[in-house]
Order: sequence, then C-alpha cells, then structure tokens
Amino acid sequence: MRKGLIMEYIPVSGPWITQKEIDYVTDAATNAWYGNANMYCERFENAFADYLGVRHAISLPSCTSAIHLSLAALDVGPGDEVIVPDITWIASAAPISYVGATTVFADVDPISWCLSADSLEECITSKTKAVIPVDLYGNMSDMDAVLDVAKCYNVAVIEDAAEAIGTEYNGKKAGTFGISGTFSFHGSKTMTTGEGGMLVTDSDDLFDRVMVLRDHGRSPGDKMFCNTDVAFKYKMSSMQAALGLGQIERIDELLDRKRQIFSWYQKRLKDVQGITLNAEAEDVKNTYWMVSIIIDEKRGLEKEELMRLLAEKNIDSRPFFRPLSSIPAYESSEQADVARRRNHVSYRIAPFGVNLPSGLSLDEEKVEYICDALHTLLSNGTRLRKVAH
Ligand SMILES: *Cc1c(COP(=O)(O)O)cnc(C)c1O
Repeated sequence: MRKGLIMEYIPVSGPWITQKEIDYVTDAATNAWYGNANMYCERFENAFADYLGVRHAISLPSCTSAIHLSLAALDVGPGDEVIVPDITWIASAAPISYVGATTVFADVDPISWCLSADSLEECITSKTKAVIPVDLYGNMSDMDAVLDVAKCYNVAVIEDAAEAIGTEYNGKKAGTFGISGTFSFHGSKTMTTGEGGMLVTDSDDLFDRVMVLRDHGRSPGDKMFCNTDVAFKYKMSSMQAALGLGQIERIDELLDRKRQIFSWYQKRLKDVQGITLNAEAEDVKNTYWMVSIIIDEKRGLEKEELMRLLAEKNIDSRPFFRPLSSIPAYESSEQADVARRRNHVSYRIAPFGVNLPSGLSLDEEKVEYICDALHTLLSNGTRLRKVAH
C-alpha cells in the first residue's frame, strides 16, 4: 500500500445520536416511573403514528416480535402457508415457524431486489394465508402489483419495513401498505433504540388483538390479573422509547443524511463498469438503509473475495443476504427445495452482492476513500484476485 494512508476502521453501519436523545433517556431514567411509567412509550408511539399517518403504533422489543404478533393476531398457524421473499434477513421469516405455519420462499425482482409480484402469484396456493413483502435495504416492490395479487387471492399483507423507515411509494410511507407494518430499531438501522421495534396498523381489530397478545393475554387496563390467553410478553422500556422519541423527532435529518451518503457513492461509482448500485424507481423514494453493489457475474468476483479485499483496507462490509432457501436453517424444508430450483433471480444476484459502509457517522472523505479502493479493486479486468496480490 504505497499510495495514500490506511483510514481508521470504517464500520458498515451505526446510528447518529445527539444530546437530544441523551437528554430524553436521562429524563426517562430519572422520571419515567410511578404515575409517569408509560410517558415515553406513549409519546414515542404517538409521534411515530403521526409521522406515518396511521391510527395505531405499538412499541415492541423488536421487529421480529412485531411480525410474530401480526401472524398470531391473524390466527395464522399449522397448515397455513406464508410467503416471504427469498432474499431477506431471517427475522422476516422466523416468526412463521414460531406460529407453526409453513414458509414459502418467493423470488425477488432483479432491479428493486424486493419481492416479485409475479413470483408471489406463482407461490399462492389454497393454503396461503399471508405474504410478508420486505422493503429491502430501504427500497420497495412494485407495491400496486403486490397488493393486487394479495387482494385477488385474499391474502393478508404484513409489510416488513424494518429497513425502510421514511421510504415512500407514490408518496405513501413504507409500512402503511398492509394490514400491519413492522419496523426495527436495532442499532444498525436508520433510527435506533438500541434494540426495539414497532407494529403499526389502521385496523382497530388487529390493534386490539395485538394489545392482548403482547401482554400475556391481558386486556389493556386489566388490573385483576385475569388473563384470557396464554400469550407473549413483548414490550419496550421507557429508556428505549425515550431514545426512539429523540430519533423520530430528528427523522428528516437522519433520512437526508442517508440519501446524501448514497449520492456521495453514486457520484464516485457511476463510471465503474460492471457494478450495479441500489435502484430507485420513479414512484419510489428510497432511503438507502444499506448502500449496496452487485458485481457483474462476468467479472468472476464473488462477494467473499471483495469483502476480504475491502477488509484489508480497513473497510467493513456485509454480504448481501443469502437466499433463505440456501441456508442451513431451512435445509430440511421442502419449500426451500422448491425455491432453490425456482428463484433464479435470488440465486443470480446474491453471490455477488455486498453492502458498503452506510453508517450515519460517515463523511464524504471516508466515502471517497472507499470509492477509491473500489476503483482500484474493480478497474483491472476480471481476475481481481491476481491483481490484488
Ligand atoms: C433488522 C431486520 C429485522 C429484525 O429486526 P429486529 O428488531 O432485530 O427483530 C426484520 N426484518 C428485516 C428485513 C430486517 O432488516
């Protein structure tokens, strides 16, 4: 490494926390007890519901629990099938197993990388109860097409918007397209509460059922410990909610930074041949949770190799999600077997996809350093391994 200095380690993701959040959390730890115990959860839920323009928002310990509660409230169980895109984090799908239903893996669209409406339709059977479209890396499916299919076959839509707070489709916010929408505030996500999640819905019935299921089968206000169901305990603490309130009050600033980071990359990578960056369709406002590249298959450079080369330059990265149907967790699933043969797009792009550093602490100088590294690694023809050594 003759040219240029090695930068300090650049992490792949991370939040942007200011004094506002610290003040709220301090106040929660000091005052949100006794009669004020729910103050911050209520403020956070109200602010979140207002931001999305929905009737109800329920703060939870994770997005995983929000998906679990959605399925449970819809009475999805053994014998039912639920469709998820093959390319996503396992959290989108694991709750299907929690309720004893069967996971069906649909293919993704080659441009948006999100659920393909055509593949969705192909996967529907008489047993299909729900579909979980995933707003991957801050992008969205052709939602009109997905909703048309779901409506036509009477399939419930649970939108996994964990990676897409603030994303819009035709001016409507991600997370508001299904009977429920789910969000994650894990430390890697665009806004964070450390760990945390939210379920949003416009349905009063779903809201009522979720409120019972998330509190060990107690109706809100039950003071006599008269549980009606054996259910779950899924709540967010006041300290987390205080952090979330600070973040949602700053959401426009966080989203602007995410889009700015993408534009820094886009400007510097646009003349690199043989890579594809996140897409943004005309009717979508992408919030680019993870700036990602797919390397052209013809270059013969798999993601593991590029990640290793980046790591040598102190640049952290992540692999594009593997098809769920290819991971050991679903090895014995018959549906995974079918998916491995059917989902050509997922299997074509996943081996060549890498998430680049997208944390909110990035500055333009770091992005320049990363892009310079990519230029060097990707500008020397196909046999990169040889060039780099
Ligand atoms: C992060 C993530 C989740 C899970 O969120 P948790 O809050 O960790 O449960 C679910 N789905 C997708 C697409 C995610 O990226």
